[in-house]
Amino acid sequence: MPDAAAHLPFYYGSIARSEAEEHLKLGGMADGLFLLRQCLRSLGGYVLSMVCDLQFYHYPIERQLNGTYAILGGKAHCGPEELCEFYSKDADGLCCPLRKPCNRPSGVEPQPGVFDSMRDNMVREYVRQTWKLEGDALEQAIISQAPQVEKLVATTAHERMPWYHGNISREEAERRLYSGAQPDGKFLLREKKENRAYALSLVYGKTVYHYRVDHDKSGKYSIPEGTKFDTLWQLVEYLKLKPDGLIFYLREACPNPNMPGELRPPTMPAQISLPSSWAQPLRNLGPLNADGYTPDPVGAGKSRLLPMDTSVYESPYSDPEELKDKKLFLKRDHLMIDEVELGAGNFGCVKKGVYKMRKKQIDVAIKVLKSNNEKTVKDEMMKEAQIMHQLDNPYIVRMIGVCEAESLMLVMEMASGGPLNRFLASKKDEITTSNIVELMHQVSMGMKYLEEKNFVHRDLAARNVLLVNQHYAKISDFGLSKALGADDSYYKARTAGKWPLKWYAPECILFHKFSSKSDVWSYGVTMWEAFSFGQKPYKKMKGPEVISFIEQGKRMDCPQECPAEMYSLMQQCWTYRWEERPGFVAVENTIRSYYYSIAAKPENGPDPGDRAKAALP
Ligand code: AMP
Repeated sequence: MPDAAAHLPFYYGSIARSEAEEHLKLGGMADGLFLLRQCLRSLGGYVLSMVCDLQFYHYPIERQLNGTYAILGGKAHCGPEELCEFYSKDADGLCCPLRKPCNRPSGVEPQPGVFDSMRDNMVREYVRQTWKLEGDALEQAIISQAPQVEKLVATTAHERMPWYHGNISREEAERRLYSGAQPDGKFLLREKKENRAYALSLVYGKTVYHYRVDHDKSGKYSIPEGTKFDTLWQLVEYLKLKPDGLIFYLREACPNPNMPGELRPPTMPAQISLPSSWAQPLRNLGPLNADGYTPDPVGAGKSRLLPMDTSVYESPYSDPEELKDKKLFLKRDHLMIDEVELGAGNFGCVKKGVYKMRKKQIDVAIKVLKSNNEKTVKDEMMKEAQIMHQLDNPYIVRMIGVCEAESLMLVMEMASGGPLNRFLASKKDEITTSNIVELMHQVSMGMKYLEEKNFVHRDLAARNVLLVNQHYAKISDFGLSKALGADDSYYKARTAGKWPLKWYAPECILFHKFSSKSDVWSYGVTMWEAFSFGQKPYKKMKGPEVISFIEQGKRMDCPQECPAEMYSLMQQCWTYRWEERPGFVAVENTIRSYYYSIAAKPENGPDPGDRAKAALP
C-alpha cells in the first residue's frame, strides 16, 4: 500500500529511535513537539515520537485489522494524519497533547523502509511481466496504477516466489530441504491441505524444523505468537530480518523445482527478481465492461480492470509488425463504418467502426466531416489529424489515421464511456471521490505529456475528457491544439475565435496568449466540473461576466463533495499571473500524492469527501 503518511511534513519514514530523538533535540525540545516515523515491527504501522518535560516518549501506532490506526488502548482513526489531529486536541492518555510538529528540514525526504523499496521493485516487475510493458508505457502504468497493482501484488506475490512450494507434504518438504547443501536458514513455505493453512520448513544444524503459519479470522498471517502480517511474502521477508521466535533467521530459499522460469531467490532489499511465470495475468480477465470491472463468474466480488488490461492502453502500432503499415492516410477498404453515432460536433458526426490492421481488428471512433462543409473546415480537421498523429500516450485519445473517401474521416481510438461531465452527472450517487481523483490524475498525466512535447491543447474541459471505462480517462478533441515552435513558450492567436471563455485563463482572453500554463487554468476548471459531478462552471454567468468576476479576484467555490486538498489545487491552477501558476509537472505531482494518500486508506472507511463536507458551514 502507498504510505498513508508520505505527504505529512513531520513524517520521517524509516528512521531509528535515536535519529528521531536527534531531530526532536534539534527542534528545541518544547513540550508537545512531535514527529512520526515508520514502524519496522508492524508493517503499515507508525511510531509517534514526542517530547514532554525534556523527556522522549515513543508510542507505536498499529494499523488495525479493519485498516484503521490506533495507539495501543486508544481510539481508532482512519489515517495517521487524523490520529495526530486528534491528539493535538486531547492528550487522551499521552504524556501531553501534540503541540508542534517537528517538520523535516527542507530537502529531506522520508527515509524509505526495507519494505518500501522491495514493494516498488515488485510492482515494477509485476507490471513489466504481466502487461509486457517497457519504457514510457511501463513508467506511466506504474505511476497511474501503483495503488491498485500494490494490492494485487501483495495478496498473490507468494505464489510466484521460488520459496513457495504449494501443496506438498511434510515428508516431501524434508526431502527437498535435505537434498543438496543444507546451510542454516534454508527454507521453504508450503500449503497444508486443511483450509488453506501454511507451514514454514527451515533447516538449522542439518535438521529441518516445521512451523505452523497461523491465518487468523481477519486474514493476517503469523507464526505462533509472532508478529502478524497482511501477506505471506511480508512475513517471509520479515523473518529474514528477525527470527521472531524461529530457531534461526530465514536465509536461503529452497527453490521449488516445479516452478517454471528462471528461479532466482529474491535478495533483500532492492533486487527482487520475479520468475517469468508472472507473465500470465493473475486474474481472469473477461470482456471489457463500461464500468471498468470484469464480470465475475463465481460471484465472489468484482475484479477491477486496470487501464493496462484494455486494448487502448498501448498504441495499436506498438507491435512492430503493425508499425510497418503506419501511415497518416488509411485505406477505405480496411475501414468498416457502423451506423451507430457516438456523438456530434459542428463539423459533422462521430460514428462507431472497426479498422482492420495486419494482425487484428480494432474498434474505432470515426469523425466524419459533413459533405457540405467548406474547405476551411476540412483544413481544420486535417490540422487536428496532424497534431494527434504526433501524440502517443495512454491518457490521450490516439489517432489511427485519416481516410479520404465518401467524406474526410478522422479515425481514432474508441473511448466508449463518453465524455466525463455526462458520465459523472449520470452516476452521481455511485462514483466515489477517490474515483474522481484517480481520473483527474490520469488527465494530469496526459497533460504533462503534452506540456513535455510542447503542445498546447486550448480546449481542455470535462466534455473533452472521454472515458474508456469508469477508471480510465483519455484527453480528446485536439481541434484547437497547436504545436509550439522549439523556442516558443506560447502561441499567439491573431484573432479571437469561438472560444470556450469559461475555461480560459486571463492571458488568453486579454492577450490571446496560449501556453501549457493556460492549459493548467483550464485543468482547474475541468477539476471543478469533475468534483461537481458534471455541473456547468460559473453557473449562469456569460463569458464577459466571468472575465470581470476573475478580474475582481473571485474564483468559483469549492464543490460540495470536493476534498479541501483538491480545491486548493484548483485555486493554484487559477493563479492570475501565468508566471506564478504551477506547470503540469507540479500539478501531476500534487494530485498524485493526494491520490496515493487516499488510496492507502481503507476502502470502506470514510470517504475523504466527507471531511470536506463536514467542514462546510
Ligand atoms: P468532438 O467533436 O471531438 O468533441 O466529438 C463529439 C462527440 O463524439 C464526443 O462528445 C463523444 O461523445 C464522441 N466521440 C468523439 N471522439 C470519440 C472517441 N474517440 N471515442 C468515442 N466517442 C467519441
